[in-house]
Amino acid sequence: MNQIKVRFAPSPTGPLHIGGARSALFNYLYARHYGGEFLLRIEDTDLERSRPEYEEEIITSLRWLGLEWDEGVASQGNNGPYRQTERLPIYDRYARQLLEQGDAYYCYCSEATLEAERQDLMAQGETPRYLGRCRHLSDEERAQYQAQGVKPVVRFRVPPRQIYVVDDLVRGRVSFESDAMGDFIIVKSDGMPTYNFAVVVDDVLMGVTHVIRAEEHLSNTPRQLMIYEALHFKRPEFAHISLILGSDRQKMSKRHGATSVMQYREMGYLPEALINFLSLLGWSPEGEEQILDREEIISAFTLDRVAKSPAVFDLEKLNWMNGQYIRKLDIEDLAHRVRPYLQQSAYRAQIEGFSPEQFLLLVNTFKDHLVCLQDIVKEAAVVFEPVNYSSEALEILQGENSGMVLQCFMDSLPADLRPDMIKQQIKTITKQNQLKPKDVFMPLRCALSGQVHGPDLPSLIALWGREETLRRLGNSLSMLAGK
Ligand code: GLU
Repeated sequence: MNQIKVRFAPSPTGPLHIGGARSALFNYLYARHYGGEFLLRIEDTDLERSRPEYEEEIITSLRWLGLEWDEGVASQGNNGPYRQTERLPIYDRYARQLLEQGDAYYCYCSEATLEAERQDLMAQGETPRYLGRCRHLSDEERAQYQAQGVKPVVRFRVPPRQIYVVDDLVRGRVSFESDAMGDFIIVKSDGMPTYNFAVVVDDVLMGVTHVIRAEEHLSNTPRQLMIYEALHFKRPEFAHISLILGSDRQKMSKRHGATSVMQYREMGYLPEALINFLSLLGWSPEGEEQILDREEIISAFTLDRVAKSPAVFDLEKLNWMNGQYIRKLDIEDLAHRVRPYLQQSAYRAQIEGFSPEQFLLLVNTFKDHLVCLQDIVKEAAVVFEPVNYSSEALEILQGENSGMVLQCFMDSLPADLRPDMIKQQIKTITKQNQLKPKDVFMPLRCALSGQVHGPDLPSLIALWGREETLRRLGNSLSMLAGK
């Protein structure tokens, strides 16, 4: 087999969404699995909706996910340019060939004429399509339109009574009848090629062997096949991957929460977790294991394990997975990743006063409580915010031994506030007073944090430090005395 080449060809009309990222990923995985190449092309012919900022965001998102491409925009290669608006002379050449061959023609129909035709067909219960009004214009008629200054589009002449068959690598054999399709536009009146035309020219000239893309493009494929045939191009293989649905089985949209890759990045999802999660949207490896690193996914990825049925985006699963990945990170790495979130929070000054050891202790204390990195801010609030007693905490503080335990702890607080020392001290108090561990632990936790639940208490105490710990305990004692 020739070397495999796949591509991701986003339109820069918005940020990179979960669906686009999944398409990019499947292409990337396919290329890496078979030792092929992965190309990035920017399809920016929709001048109104395309923006350079979106292209930038797409590129940043792909890089953040680690989906490096071997050829294309912002990279290298001998088949450029890789941005469609920079390839207009190329499309022009092929449009002229199609016109000369009689496979395409100029169409001067106005919007109003086309709309009337659409309405008519719909009223008769037929699929709206172009019926070929300009198919057989004489030179004279054409000259007349030109003289009136009407800017034509170029339409592809759809061959009648043909069946177009795609042996899709995911969906199997799919057939389309040409008679259901009207002659379609390949060059717009502003001279821009349409998607169906440019994509064929580019995929061929760039040597793409496998087109792996979203299912929504399956219905475009027969039109593309017609162009392949008319230009005597060898067609690539096609694989259309299914839609991604929200957990309510509706098409994914903003209603389902964050949709762009950058939003996930900002919340502190790890790229390695997102890759793992996206890979399982429609693909499944053999076996039950869900946590797979990139190399494992690459080595197991084949299209015959990609499902035809829609994939369901399960945020809870992503959250679980991200937590797993966070807990697998070594603590220095995690500290490095959460630092920016704390630096941008209200706790910036306190964080900057922390020694490196204290900062690592902070991260270690909360790491099991994080779904995503941004959670560090809300989790760490207990360290930095004033005590706000919950009613359960107040109840515990009013227990018969609470005041004594707090006083005892204050009196014997070691100079060195390391978690293991504090643990030892708590044990000693428990023993000396013949209490149950919980009768020491709970009053301390409630007095210091105002809450009955929380992370490891000795670690919290070490984070507060001696002065703040004494202050909090003193405040709680005064409150109890006042009651
Ligand atoms: N520009 C198209 C899109 O973003 C690409 C479709 C294709 O991969 O052929 O949907």
